[in-house]
Amino acid sequence: MTPSDATALPPVAITIDVEDWFHVCGIGVPQPVARNMWRTKANIIKILALLDSYQCKATFFMLGSVAESEPDIAPMIAAKGHEIASHGYSHTLLTDMDQNAFRDELMRTEQILTKQIGVRPIGFRAPQWSVPYNSTWMDEILIECGYHYDSSRNPLPFVGDSSLPLHPYTITTSRGTLLELPPMVTPTIFGNLPTGGGWGFRFFPIKLIEATVRKYHRAKAPAVLYIHPRELDPDGPRLKLPPLKSFVSYGSRKDAVPQLSMLLEQFRCSTLSEIAASWPRTY
Ligand SMILES: [Zn+2]
Repeated sequence: MTPSDATALPPVAITIDVEDWFHVCGIGVPQPVARNMWRTKANIIKILALLDSYQCKATFFMLGSVAESEPDIAPMIAAKGHEIASHGYSHTLLTDMDQNAFRDELMRTEQILTKQIGVRPIGFRAPQWSVPYNSTWMDEILIECGYHYDSSRNPLPFVGDSSLPLHPYTITTSRGTLLELPPMVTPTIFGNLPTGGGWGFRFFPIKLIEATVRKYHRAKAPAVLYIHPRELDPDGPRLKLPPLKSFVSYGSRKDAVPQLSMLLEQFRCSTLSEIAASWPRTY
């Protein structure tokens, strides 16, 4: 593929949920973890170096509590020209909070990030794809608070909803509209596979992931990929969880770097805010 062919194609969006290895949803009240066990910053440094080596600009969904506890992480990311978006404050499932709690989390995170980097986030991703079922309050609050896009709806069974569209779409509410930028999945006769991120990104063969990116390109849609800092830290600590919860949260201890490098080698990157700015809205 020549570079001019590459620029004609929709981009790949690398997104990173900035949280630590102990930020696992749905396990009750989290136990405090000693500061010398925190690994986010070291892993973000690794991710930034990798992205730099391919001149890739990515979108980092920051957890407000991480930004607050380690105030040099967001400025370090922003200084490299990446986008900072919001992942909420406490990593609580949206399905476990009410509208006021969500608004508070959003505002608190926004204030922390604005103070640290001088720019407010315009994109949001819910912890563990926890979009409130059959309700539009999350979207309405995001619109009210000036967000341009959301990336919380995963078209997967169990963790999301397989019936959701695979490509970007406009969500219309009584308060206005929001662009939804869903993560990539691979549709098969067995259902949609989680090739766009998490354990699936590290588990499925790179050929299948590349073929899926090309399929999105043929549909003129961006391929949105997601990783967590702990996925570049295969020897790092893990919470002791029941086997299924542990697999869903951590997958195997395989490093995400080789797969990510192979994609970065081939495809043009863009941030979600750039994609949102150029995506035609339907009203
Ligand atoms: Zn998360």
